[in-house]
Amino acid sequence: MGSSTTRISAPAARPESDLPTSIAAKCSVGDLSREPTAHTIARMQLSEYQRLSRRTAEYPRDAWLAYPSLGLAGEAGEVADHAKKAIRDDGGTVTDERRLAISKELGDVLWYVAQLASELGLELEEIARANLEKLSSRQQRGVLSGSGDER
Ligand SMILES: [Mg+2]
Repeated sequence: MGSSTTRISAPAARPESDLPTSIAAKCSVGDLSREPTAHTIARMQLSEYQRLSRRTAEYPRDAWLAYPSLGLAGEAGEVADHAKKAIRDDGGTVTDERRLAISKELGDVLWYVAQLASELGLELEEIARANLEKLSSRQQRGVLSGSGDER
């Protein structure tokens, strides 16, 4: 490995108002009498995503914990692999193509997170809320940086 380093340029964080408001921009006319799917609802709550994602949760029941845990690690690895390839192949920049690819991998990560939560009887909404509260508390106490889960 060479001694040169490449920095990934970090774009400024997007304000919340700049984030996509629709996950189904390519929505086509569907049977509205049926239950909503990811293609027919404009905005989605985490609870709805968690519920709908169970429709495709097909894996061996006796591997209910291991399967989604391993899948989550694998998909997180795919995200990391794109970061590596951005450094290796694109001079540390994130191309539009790679941004789309990472977006899809993040969706895969989300799917496995949702399955793990469901298997453990947890609600994604509650997990998200508790996480924000934890981080906000750490920020207010000046311990956002550092290590240790219980700080
Ligand atoms: Mg994937």
